[in-house]
Amino acid sequence: MMPMTPPRIALIAHDHKKDDIVAFAGRHRDFLSRCELLATGTTGGRLSDEIGLTVTRMLSGPWGGDLQIGAQLAEGRVGVVIFLRDPMTPQPHEPDINALVRACDVHNVPCATNVATADLLIAELRRMYPE
Ligand code: PGA
Repeated sequence: MMPMTPPRIALIAHDHKKDDIVAFAGRHRDFLSRCELLATGTTGGRLSDEIGLTVTRMLSGPWGGDLQIGAQLAEGRVGVVIFLRDPMTPQPHEPDINALVRACDVHNVPCATNVATADLLIAELRRMYPE
């Protein structure tokens, strides 16, 4: 039997991908507003200010936000990760980024690292959790 409430969704975007995640969240605002959301600090601020979503904000990524999300995921408290990484820019917290993606693989949690996959994931979640 399918649980009635959609999974808790974590959203993270590197700086060059923040406009993309804001546009993504705008497209899926109706569905995302029915979900419990958490995000790294700056991403969460933009989603809340520009899209009006209620988001639990962790620390900013370079200050440990990815690790905070990874810790919750390891405890079974995150069901989906949307992680728009910037493949063109080295990040100071590369080990934390890898740790979060690894935690998704360890715990078999869906993790979209680009917008095309994120859109497919939300389309499937809409099908699984109709209003
Ligand atoms: P931010 O963190 O949302 O606080 O910018 C994301 C990151 O850069 O990892």
